Amino acid sequence: MTREQTVHPSGAIVRIRPLAELTTLRVGGPAEVWEVDDLAAAREAASEPFLALGAGSNLLVSDAGVNERVVKLGRGFDDGRAFGAEADVWLGAATPLPGLVRRAREAGLSGLEPLLGIPAALGGAIAMNAGTRHGEMSDTLQEVDILVNGNVERLPADALGLAYRRSSLPKGGLLLRARLALTPSTPERVAAAMAPVDAARQGQPKATSAGCAFKNPEGDSAGRIIDAAGLKGLRVGDAMVSHEHANFIVNLGAATAADVEALLKEIQERVGQPLEVEWQRWGV
Ligand SMILES: Cc1cc2nc3c(=O)[nH]c(=O)nc-3n(C[C@H](O)[C@H](O)[C@H](O)COP(=O)(O)OP(=O)(O)OC[C@H]3O[C@@H](n4cnc5c(N)ncnc54)[C@H](O)[C@@H]3O)c2cc1C
Repeated sequence: MTREQTVHPSGAIVRIRPLAELTTLRVGGPAEVWEVDDLAAAREAASEPFLALGAGSNLLVSDAGVNERVVKLGRGFDDGRAFGAEADVWLGAATPLPGLVRRAREAGLSGLEPLLGIPAALGGAIAMNAGTRHGEMSDTLQEVDILVNGNVERLPADALGLAYRRSSLPKGGLLLRARLALTPSTPERVAAAMAPVDAARQGQPKATSAGCAFKNPEGDSAGRIIDAAGLKGLRVGDAMVSHEHANFIVNLGAATAADVEALLKEIQERVGQPLEVEWQRWGV
């Protein structure tokens, strides 16, 4: 297979791509990427061992890439444009979260305010139970359709093991669609509820990153701990602990996954207490 795209008989578009192109941290080697727009193509793509890719905003992919195929849901699973004024709504897992949050505000629907500024696709936001201290994905999620062993299963949210930045989806499961229940409100009230979330975001770096590198330990903040250890600006190659927010590792341009891994290890050794990496690591 070459970098040229091929169209599989199922309709899937298959191409070898560097995952650096598909992740926000901009590191990661090649993979066979299957982009799927309907159930038949998704079924075919998921018939071999695979990794599900959302917006790639919580991933550290090794420089050697991954052996599994990578399945990316395409436009057929993106309902961002169709989302309007319905409070109880099914949406495709490729729907970008930022657009959903914006549209919910415009429609005066409450529930997604805590997710303002998270650059996820809906499926990735569910898999990570994305959130902030103001709330998380599980607050509005009702049920999902998930492809498991070729069958679409409808599962209630409480069967997904959603907890702080984690889930326990069925092994080999590909989230296809999700039902969210929002609360009718007004655009003004929703905007007001978003204001503190927006304010908290202002201190975050705009530079290339994958968001927070470490989970917050119970009752504390990983950023505070790393900052207190004096590690802002610590650098391995082009990977650096952000000066603006110590829990962000930024890619200054040419960082490799090896640089980022070495920096993670250095931070963990220097802070003198266990810090758990929040990112999903592929192929390392
Ligand atoms: C600037 C910035 C700010 C951020 N701020 C926050 C924040 O405030 N709060 C927060 O929680 N996170 C934050 N993040 C991290 C990230 O956006 C979240 O973890 C998000 O939920 C990841 O979604 P994604 O679609 O990018 O998933 P990906 O990174 O593509 O994948 C993450 C995991 O989800 C799985 N997955 C993705 N799609 C599917 C699917 N359809 N079916 C099954 N599994 C799937 C993947 O296999 C992988 O294990 C931030 C990231 C950045 C870059």
